Amino acid sequence: MDLYEYQARDIFERHGVPVLRSLVASTPEEARAAYERLGSSVVVVKAQVKIGGRGKAGGVKLARSADEAAERAAEILGMDIKGHTVRKVMIAEGADIAEEYYFSLLLDRSNRQYLAMCSVEGGMDIEQLAEERPEALARIPVDPRKGIDWDAADAIVEAAGFPREDWSRVARVLGSVGRVFIEEDATLVEVNPLVKTKQGDIIALDGKISLDDNARFRHKHHDLLEDKQADDPLEAAARAKDLNYVKLDGSVGIIGNGAGLVMSTLDVVAKAGADLPGSPHPANFLDIGGGASAQVMANGLEIILSDPQVKSVFVNVFGGITSCNEVASGIVAAMQMLGDKAVKPLVVRLDGNAVDVGREILREFAHPLVTVVDTMDAAARKAAELAATSTDSEA
Ligand code: GDP
Ligand code: MN
Repeated sequence: MDLYEYQARDIFERHGVPVLRSLVASTPEEARAAYERLGSSVVVVKAQVKIGGRGKAGGVKLARSADEAAERAAEILGMDIKGHTVRKVMIAEGADIAEEYYFSLLLDRSNRQYLAMCSVEGGMDIEQLAEERPEALARIPVDPRKGIDWDAADAIVEAAGFPREDWSRVARVLGSVGRVFIEEDATLVEVNPLVKTKQGDIIALDGKISLDDNARFRHKHHDLLEDKQADDPLEAAARAKDLNYVKLDGSVGIIGNGAGLVMSTLDVVAKAGADLPGSPHPANFLDIGGGASAQVMANGLEIILSDPQVKSVFVNVFGGITSCNEVASGIVAAMQMLGDKAVKPLVVRLDGNAVDVGREILREFAHPLVTVVDTMDAAARKAAELAATSTDSEA
């Protein structure tokens, strides 16, 4: 889960990373009130979207009065930044910037360590810097068992080329960022810019945090950071039922067991639909996992069938520990549970453990909406055709 800047800022503050005071506003009037409450002559009005490059897109603006804060907020709220609509702005105390630096810490899975990246040339063009002058971006491996201790922090500030008189002050901040990373179970913490003010303070002026979703159970309070409004409603409903579901933009609903099988199912369906009218393609990714019960199958079907874009559903299951007869019974039970809610055609392909019994169960069930097809390719084709004809009849 990626966080908004204002959420990252609050987490920074809790772990002792220096930040400036700020408030969040969703209307120009709230922005005006925020200006007054902060009591700072200059504030920055910043678009809160989970995408970088806000500054260049016009989503970061200074304001020197309450009226100006309200005006800047009116301009920024509702703005579209690379496909993200701005629903909130952060009003932050203005900083007198002397220098802009770059710092990030990320999970380096292939080397089983953390990687710190740091540059004294931070600010808005870090990607360009990394490409054109990679030597200006220091890359220092960090031992996950130690985090950013004093030795690691020293190595980073030296490699990045900070002036010696700033070493200890910068190192202290990097140590705090390292604690944010470890204590919150992040996979990325980025501070760009980390600034030195004209008064000589080192402050995190922008923050990006990605949290490790696999560690969510350890951090109950992270649930509060979830953005219910921006989430896709189907994905939110799926998450509430512990389903591994990702919404896509096609018309063929997909259910399978095992991430690998579901991924290849997406490919096969996209290929099968490519030359059909309206080129039907997958509407979602849904992996119901290994020991999928009838209830899980019903939950999955219910989510997929409630997607108005879905015209047909392809259930592609390879029986293993959960055998095909259990899966078939699951589909029967799911269709019975759903009753009138099951209104779209289902193509089922079963293979693997107890496939004959499984197919027989579905044949006996003889539900008018359920078609059993024996191979994955033919089933994908059938599901795509059903989606195509259904689109035709509506047009
Ligand atoms: P991003 O473009 O999405 O990364 O947004 P940032 O929060 O990094 O802001 C972009 C740029 O705005 C920064 O690199 C700064 O130059 C500038 N900026 C941000 N906050 C302040 C501030 O408090 N005072 C001043 N003078 N400039 C700021
Ligand atoms: Mn930034």
